[in-house]
Amino acid sequence: MSDCIFCKIVNGEIPSKKAYEDDKILAFYDLNPVAPVHILIVPKIHINSIVDLDSKSIEYVTYIMTKIKDLAKELGVDESGFRLVTNVGDDGGQTVEHLHFHLVGGRPLEWPPG
Ligand code: IMP
Repeated sequence: MSDCIFCKIVNGEIPSKKAYEDDKILAFYDLNPVAPVHILIVPKIHINSIVDLDSKSIEYVTYIMTKIKDLAKELGVDESGFRLVTNVGDDGGQTVEHLHFHLVGGRPLEWPPG
């Protein structure tokens, strides 16, 4: 999508600090981190949110899940723990309409979220 900022990050039109990249997904550091470790993991195709998946595009989510353990280890939070979140819609706090997972850690996280 031409006006999607995460598509522009994927395409390199907007710079990002990359944590991981392959042909299917990109992980990059959040511009406004809420914890010492805060990255975003996105599919390289445009999907609005988790509720817009179909039988084909869900493969990207499955694939992202297979990478979480290694990413957490790379970021040094595999043993301390972390949170993996995807926000959906206005009440869910989604501000960028390109499916993304926040991987947050590096400090004790509170529950419930605000
Ligand atoms: P959401 O609110 O769940 O949609 O998450 C969007 C996230 O994208 C927020 O945590 C923002 O800080 C982050 N963000 C927005 N623009 C950029 C950017 O250009 N680079 C990195 N992170 C960004």
